[in-house]
Amino acid sequence: MAIRLYDSLTRSVKELRRPDPNDPSDVFRFYNCGPTVYAPAHIGNFRTFLVNDVIRRLLVLEFGKDKVTHVRNLTDVDDKTIRRAREESRPLAAVTKQWTDKFHADCRALNCLDPHLEPTATGHIAEQVKMIEELMQKGHAYRTADGSVYFKVSSFGGYGALSRVKERELSLGSALAGKPQTVDADEKEDGSDFALWKAWKPEDGPNKWPGPADAAPGRPGWHIECSAMSKKHLGDTIDLHTGGVDLLFPHHENEIAQSECCNGAQFSRHWYHSEHLLVDGKKMSKSLGNLYTLDDLTAKGFSPMALRYALLSGHPRKQLNFTFDSLHAAESALTTIHSFWQSLRGGNGPAGHFDEVVAALKDDLNAPAALGAFFSIVKRGPHGVSKEACDKALFALGLKPDFVARPQKDAPSEIIALADKRWAAKQAKDFATADALRKELTAAGWAMLDGKDGYKLEPLKKA
Ligand code: AMP
Ligand code: ZN
Repeated sequence: MAIRLYDSLTRSVKELRRPDPNDPSDVFRFYNCGPTVYAPAHIGNFRTFLVNDVIRRLLVLEFGKDKVTHVRNLTDVDDKTIRRAREESRPLAAVTKQWTDKFHADCRALNCLDPHLEPTATGHIAEQVKMIEELMQKGHAYRTADGSVYFKVSSFGGYGALSRVKERELSLGSALAGKPQTVDADEKEDGSDFALWKAWKPEDGPNKWPGPADAAPGRPGWHIECSAMSKKHLGDTIDLHTGGVDLLFPHHENEIAQSECCNGAQFSRHWYHSEHLLVDGKKMSKSLGNLYTLDDLTAKGFSPMALRYALLSGHPRKQLNFTFDSLHAAESALTTIHSFWQSLRGGNGPAGHFDEVVAALKDDLNAPAALGAFFSIVKRGPHGVSKEACDKALFALGLKPDFVARPQKDAPSEIIALADKRWAAKQAKDFATADALRKELTAAGWAMLDGKDGYKLEPLKKA
């Protein structure tokens, strides 16, 4: 059974296919917009990254491990990252490294597979500049008096196909053009044109790069980074592009315009957007200040796996309201899964009904149905159930089978990730690695107490 997934461009559920299944060197090209690294990602962001992780897992199951290339970028230069660096009087690279490291630790604790490539915007300035120059040469972009470069939206007939925003936003754009200019609309030929290159301003501090020919030194706009990085690492046409629903407009609409005008080829064959996590009916966001991070939840004693489970319990195309009750329910569901899993004998007996779990995920990522199918098997008991088939279903969901519910005393995600790694090493009887990881934990101020079925973390008393 093929993977079927909603496509935001055609507004229909479509099969995910490799472009040329007969070509053995052909891979499925998957691009997923990554985080802006200026603060910890919140659990709303992680809802989106977990959905993407499940897509990646399904692609691996469907096409094979080496037939998928997953790229997820890091936005390490933009208004927010620069502002944060200025507020903290630190170099931009120091701020973005801190939050990139934290993002990686959180991803590991949530059992997300690493993308194959994780390009950064600052590491791809030359590629972005080249693309901007090409857009200028082809008449799709123009320079303004201050040396910035804008994309000319009216030069691309396909603009608005993804978001159907043309009528709404373009009329707003022309309305803006006739009014006293806002700062942002300053010097744009049309209010809906967007920045490809931003000329340096004093508040950018030391953060500037040589610009496209004729333009001033400065930095790239946000949208061009994804166009340039996906082109470099995946080619002109990719198979699937994803992100949270807020990225659909303007970010993805602008990516399409830039890439298709520059490359003269379709940018992405499939678009997928997952819905937001809400708190009390409002979108969880940094600007509303209503957010939780993974560390906020582990400090309350919840495990990262419980968050993974809770975030997967809603359909990715429906908004999900975050509640602590759902985390409690997730902890108890995981405990049930763990004892079921432990009672399986191993071997590769019949897959039984576990295929239904993967089938539900392949059916437009119906995660609630997948978890439902899992639990109906659990309810029937472990007799005659194949461990291999169970492991495959758990792999698709990304739930760690050796998960143990355990009280955490304020352990941050990087400590939990280390402890999980050490636990896995110990289970695999790799004692040298386990000892080395224990030393790392001790140095970080944590004791790991091993039990029969799992471990506990305790902060070491200060001497
Ligand atoms: P950012 O770091 O702001 O670029 O966002 C990273 C990802 O998180 C993007 O794909 C956003 O669409 C997504 N996102 C932001 N807020 C939420 C939310 N409340 N629920 C789900 N996804 C979100
Ligand atoms: Zn992007």
